[in-house]
Amino acid sequence: MKILVINAGSSSMKYQLIDMTDESVLAKGNCERIGIDGHFKHSTGDGRVFETDVVMTNHTEAFVQIKNALISEEYGVIKNLDEVSAVGHRIVQGGSLFSESVLVNEEVIKGIESLIPLAPLHNAAHVQGIRACLEVFGDKVPEVVVFDTAFHSTMPEKAFIYPVPYEYYEKYSVRRYGFHGTSHRYVSQRCAELMGKDIKDIKMITCHLGNGSSITAVKGGKVIDTSMGLTPLDGIMMGTRTGSLDPSVVTFIAEQEHLSAEEMDTLLNKKSGFLGISGISSDDRDVTAAAESGNHRAQLAIDILEYDILKYIGSYTAVLGGVDAIVFTAGIGENQSSHRSSVCHALSFMGVKIDDKLNEQMIRGKEGKISTEDSTVEVYVIPTNEELVIARDTMALVTK
Ligand code: AMP
Repeated sequence: MKILVINAGSSSMKYQLIDMTDESVLAKGNCERIGIDGHFKHSTGDGRVFETDVVMTNHTEAFVQIKNALISEEYGVIKNLDEVSAVGHRIVQGGSLFSESVLVNEEVIKGIESLIPLAPLHNAAHVQGIRACLEVFGDKVPEVVVFDTAFHSTMPEKAFIYPVPYEYYEKYSVRRYGFHGTSHRYVSQRCAELMGKDIKDIKMITCHLGNGSSITAVKGGKVIDTSMGLTPLDGIMMGTRTGSLDPSVVTFIAEQEHLSAEEMDTLLNKKSGFLGISGISSDDRDVTAAAESGNHRAQLAIDILEYDILKYIGSYTAVLGGVDAIVFTAGIGENQSSHRSSVCHALSFMGVKIDDKLNEQMIRGKEGKISTEDSTVEVYVIPTNEELVIARDTMALVTK
């Protein structure tokens, strides 16, 4: 069975075609700048690459590009579209409506649409992606939606209710939802496999550290708290996002600079974090290089990131009543061994001990344990694979 995984953004559409017999990626690619001008890149598992500038005015036209590439003689991986058994879509916001993956029907699409106010850019784009897929593939190919928020739906009320007047929860569903759930779910399950234990018996802290970052406390396979909130702005500092702040910082700067709510939103989401503090870049590699050459603000940005990670691990250890395993994943978590080292050495007071050599080697897609045998907590680096989770959920639902 071959499953197409789609991650539709407002002006982009990423895809992977996965062969579920061995879970190998047959082809993947990205349609970028949809509605602006258009750039399309497609590559196959056996190393063929096709790249072109092509105008795509909407997601349906992007889907046509994907379809043509998949069945192309030169760059294709299937003979015709009938080989695609199902399509799985990544959806950012499932709100309180969706606590697990579901098959798409009109009611589900309406549900995702009803959550657009909570994730205006993302959910609107996802709906476009689903409808475009229906147009190109027709209704014989089942579609499944997998939500970033779903894994976090087990959080208790005390972790998800904000201490603003309760009426805003009732009126507008203002609460903590959490994101990157598909990634946290994948690495927590994989961590249990690597530990050779039943996930029900493990207390875990999973650190998804990328351009966007979130940390999650997982007890017995269920999320009990997570750092992102109503939106992916909350929690630890990120590439261009602030993470948690004293809310007065927002009102004070807005007043001083005469900024509208929209301008403030841009400042907090796009101009802050690594970029805002270092003044150099949102990319950890650039900021690390600048810090190494003596740039104080770049070093400060790194110090803040490591301090934030440490604080979350400390508080989640308390919340979990101890911790058996810590997992690092995503671009920074999988590759920047220096941050893992700083954080883990700072945790030595609670018996965390890593093998520095192993830690340095565990980069670029390598998976494994970096803690020593006498460490009280096992520490893992696990490359995330959200597309595979989406494909597995899709297969499970269409073969039910
Ligand atoms: P993500 O959002 O998961 O793609 O992660 C993006 C972040 O990961 C950026 O800040 C990058 O600097 C960092 N990153 C990605 N790949 C690498 C790598 N090979 N080495 C170091 N950092 C990386």
